[in-house]
Amino acid sequence: MQLGPAAVQVIHAGREDLTREHWAISISTFAREPSEERVIPVNGVERIIWEMDTHHPNNRFCNLGKFRIVHFVVRQFFGAIKMHVLDVGEMAQLFVKAFKLVAIFATACVVLEVIFPAYRYSFASYIRGARNWIIRIGCGTLIWHFYALGLKWLGVKPLVTINFGALLHSSNPIANTGFAVLSGVLVAIAGDFFYYWMHRAQHAVPFLWRLHATHHSIRELTAWNCNHHISEPFVYAAFVALPLALIHFESGVVPVAAMALITFQAHLSHSSTRFNLGPLRYLIGDNKFHRIHHSTEFHHRHKNYGFFTTVWDTIFRTAYWPKTNEWPEVGMRNQPEPLTVRDFIMFPFDQRRWRKAKAGSGTQGIKTGGLNAVERDGPIHSDRSSAI
Ligand SMILES: [Zn+2]
Ligand SMILES: [Zn+2]
Repeated sequence: MQLGPAAVQVIHAGREDLTREHWAISISTFAREPSEERVIPVNGVERIIWEMDTHHPNNRFCNLGKFRIVHFVVRQFFGAIKMHVLDVGEMAQLFVKAFKLVAIFATACVVLEVIFPAYRYSFASYIRGARNWIIRIGCGTLIWHFYALGLKWLGVKPLVTINFGALLHSSNPIANTGFAVLSGVLVAIAGDFFYYWMHRAQHAVPFLWRLHATHHSIRELTAWNCNHHISEPFVYAAFVALPLALIHFESGVVPVAAMALITFQAHLSHSSTRFNLGPLRYLIGDNKFHRIHHSTEFHHRHKNYGFFTTVWDTIFRTAYWPKTNEWPEVGMRNQPEPLTVRDFIMFPFDQRRWRKAKAGSGTQGIKTGGLNAVERDGPIHSDRSSAI
């Protein structure tokens, strides 16, 4: 069979329970011409590939056919869930690995918070933060597990790969180590572009804001107590992980020490320590920079959306460079920090909470897209003691 550029491939891997006839039925829903079958081993798994010539007059897709392709894909996906959902061991491993990383780097920042405190917060807030991390990583493990399965079964592959590791390479071992670190930083900066725009959407779209506000409602902000709502991976998957699956950035082999510093930076951003990155802040975000984003001050609104890098804020003119002793109050005046597990999970959906916020903030109300400015971006000043 002569295959044109629009040829469709249906790939089936490792499902002994499904017969050739079964799969032929799936295919016959959108291809009337008998398809060609090839069996090839890929990574030790036998894959059966049917190829159809969509240029053939009998193989033109009709609307019904398109519908059935969706049906087929959905069935593939749920087939995958059936196969892997009980892989508790793999998920438990993921959970332990993620929690270990958080525990190491958040605790390292807590040491800095104790030695060089910018603010001292209650011990209860650290316990609350650790508890919320366990809930968040638990939910995140499940969500990312299914996301990875979905990508695999849908066969999503990068459209383009930008390989900083290959671009920055030297035969000199010292220069090469420097380039390896640089390529890791460049990957993180490129990835942060998508994060930056996701974050702006979270502050602009009312529904996304309600989810994101869970994070902004935290008043005792520390390296441990800095959780996002459990729904965050869904938003992240759509705005950051999916584009990055299509435009894939690759680094060389980044030294472990550099990777550790990059991970440390993520936890430092919420840390309430006086330790910060100084002038390096013009490239890499730190706690002084990100604190402005959480600030209750009116003149800090709509600032500092970037996380790893400050470059995108500079380019898109949303950067605010904190002054030497600038360490504002954080949180939302009309939304106390959720203290219980139920409150943490239900925060975006609790109608009583949001109705009260609306009523309480009426005098400051600048209406923007269904939520007023105070609900959207936090209060213009806060009363920290009332939340603790
Ligand atoms: Zn935000
Ligand atoms: Zn934050």
